[in-house]
Amino acid sequence: MLGGASHGVLASVALKRPMRSEYTYAVPADMADGLAVGMRVAVHFGGRREVGIVVDLPSSTDVPASRLKNVSAVLDNEPVLDEDLLHVTRWMGTYYGCSWGEALAAVLPAVLKREGGRRQITRLSPAEGIGALDLATLEDRYEAQHRVLRTLLDAGGPLDRNDLVRKLNISLSPIQTLIKKGWVIAEQADAVTDALSGAPAENRTEPEELMAQQATAIEAISKPLKAREFETFLLRGVTGSGKTEVYLSVIKECLELGRGAIVLVPEIALTPQTVSWFRSRFGQVAVLHSRMTDAQRHDAWKSVRQREVRVVVGARSALFAPMPDLGVVVVDEEHEPSFKQGSTPRYHGRDLAVVRARQAGAVCILGSATPSLESWENARNGRYTLIEMPERVQGGKLPEVEVIDLNSVKMSGPFSAPLALAIKEAVQRGEQVILFQNRRGFAPVLWCNSCRSVVKCEQCDASMVFHRKLKRVVCHGCCAEQRPPKQCPTCSAPGMRFLGEGSEQVESAVQLLCPDARVARMDSDSMHRQEDYERVLGKFGAREIDILVGTQMIAKGLDFPGVTLVGIVSADSALHLPDFRAAERTFQLLCQVSGRAGRGVLSGRILVQTHFPNHPAILCAAGHDFPAFASHELPLREELSYPPYGRVILVLLDDEDQALVDRIGAHLADVLDHHLSDELVEILGPAPAPIALLRNRHRRFFLLKTGARGEGLDQARDLLLDFANKHNRPRITVDVDPVSML
Ligand code: ADP
Ligand code: ZN
Repeated sequence: MLGGASHGVLASVALKRPMRSEYTYAVPADMADGLAVGMRVAVHFGGRREVGIVVDLPSSTDVPASRLKNVSAVLDNEPVLDEDLLHVTRWMGTYYGCSWGEALAAVLPAVLKREGGRRQITRLSPAEGIGALDLATLEDRYEAQHRVLRTLLDAGGPLDRNDLVRKLNISLSPIQTLIKKGWVIAEQADAVTDALSGAPAENRTEPEELMAQQATAIEAISKPLKAREFETFLLRGVTGSGKTEVYLSVIKECLELGRGAIVLVPEIALTPQTVSWFRSRFGQVAVLHSRMTDAQRHDAWKSVRQREVRVVVGARSALFAPMPDLGVVVVDEEHEPSFKQGSTPRYHGRDLAVVRARQAGAVCILGSATPSLESWENARNGRYTLIEMPERVQGGKLPEVEVIDLNSVKMSGPFSAPLALAIKEAVQRGEQVILFQNRRGFAPVLWCNSCRSVVKCEQCDASMVFHRKLKRVVCHGCCAEQRPPKQCPTCSAPGMRFLGEGSEQVESAVQLLCPDARVARMDSDSMHRQEDYERVLGKFGAREIDILVGTQMIAKGLDFPGVTLVGIVSADSALHLPDFRAAERTFQLLCQVSGRAGRGVLSGRILVQTHFPNHPAILCAAGHDFPAFASHELPLREELSYPPYGRVILVLLDDEDQALVDRIGAHLADVLDHHLSDELVEILGPAPAPIALLRNRHRRFFLLKTGARGEGLDQARDLLLDFANKHNRPRITVDVDPVSML
């Protein structure tokens, strides 16, 4: 008997609710047998039946027996989560400020969060390309159908049919019409095959001989792996230095030891190419990503738990794959902001990877050519072990980077004369070109030449971006779209003008420049589905495309030996964002894009167009010099106590009622001032957020800086959560260790 004499068996249950603690339930005698921590139970809470996880079997409780509710049903006969994952989720809830149940809910496949069976899902038909024009036509005549398509396009993957109906507040009929038209498919959630499993297998043969730097790295990592000791490595190697090969070798060794491996890559880098590298080496590999259906996720989860699959590759949520006897956790491109989750719980996959590895007694490898300054500092102060791989494989040279000062060259459209010439020459030689422009659409700004006003979104503090194919201006904040005004909305003068060049314009300009070249574009406007990526990347790999234009979607994980020229059309778009990491991001992106050239036998050339040729981020990226960038940037961070010399909590208040946001913001300022010591926590704000109006909501923010080791962080976070709980409006978002200030 586990429970106290007066209570019988007790279970502490975590529910997906923003509560401070777990609830204790009594377990009826006929359910108590075999009940274990990590199993799911159904319980009544607040008049509703809910699914929760048993996190403890306490021997006593303060709640009088008469007030204890019973567990309604036990849903499993074995735990769905092991002790390690319970520990990691508890840590996550505490650190990022959510309940244990909310943290668990973020981890479990949706199927395990419900009692019911499989559901109907809705997704876009892969056969029918939905053109933007179809969308525009629909919008005018069939508004509900338009909204369904938009939502599915934005989601980039299947959606639960009932969720869709509820979210859009529509009947089933527009969905049924779209199904009849062949644009949308409806099916049982379990009928879908894994979108990535059909990817063409690309063999990545094991190199005959490892380079010395690879052998050294592998040796260093296998020591703790064999000894079953936790250790975190920062593997800093330039692009093409053979990092992936190091991961593959370490994982091979890990499997031979009978242990499992988890590899995290940024969602955007989760290409069929990356996946097939792992599949060709290890056979069975479970892939986890956000575009999967619930059923796929559940199947993958089950096969991992049952030890059928010992390698998992995926985006940040793959970290929670229930891998028994975990030996290695790899985080590739560890500096990527996309490892941070954008909704509650706002966890950082990279930081949690270290927590998970520590809990499992595993090794954690954080790999990057341009590590985050946080990880770099952790390597310098000895918390992580630094391994450097400065050479490219087989004596490959890092491509030469030429910076083009846009203040002093002639432009034709988006291209300076040297870039235009380089593109033409490369295409003539039969080589491939990548052009990077990190802005979608045709022209980012539409403005009036008479009164100089800019066309802005009515609901957002943002200019409307012209999309030529759509024949619309679109707000990238809220997706509102409209026909571009022929006259100025402010002064009625005719003749609006475009300013700036988006990826759509770069695509058409380069087609004009090289009329015979085969050009394709990859950005979130042109790539709606997994199949789109596969098709374009497959063609580029087969050299059926000469020039690939894209946003940061093309910066990662691609390896095409035919590429000899990378043109960065504008390096400046992120340089002056109001974010303390603006320079770091620019540096990282430039290095990453540059790494796409010269990966084959041909040498590569990078041309960077910028208005700020002397900015350290640009100069250091041109020199492929991460240490130089870090030594320039770190003192600036230290002076202002920004990470890695302090931790940051971002607090956002937003509401339609501006006066309310201002009033509660001022009140919060008082509360923080009163309760937090200025020695531990520095409070900035309230101030208008960088995007002060979004979807008609006014936004004010605070930035709290605490000590580098988190001194003052718990106190500040708990105070904020408490305040947030007491106020229904405005909405208050608390983000611990935010990756973006916008
Ligand atoms: P990174 O991940 O650092 O960008 P990769 O591991 O992808 O580098 O290696 C770059 C290229 O070099 C790949 O095509 C890979 O197959 C090849 N490669 C890696 N290690 C070796 C080696 N020891 N010998 C020969 N080729 C190698
Ligand atoms: Zn808007």
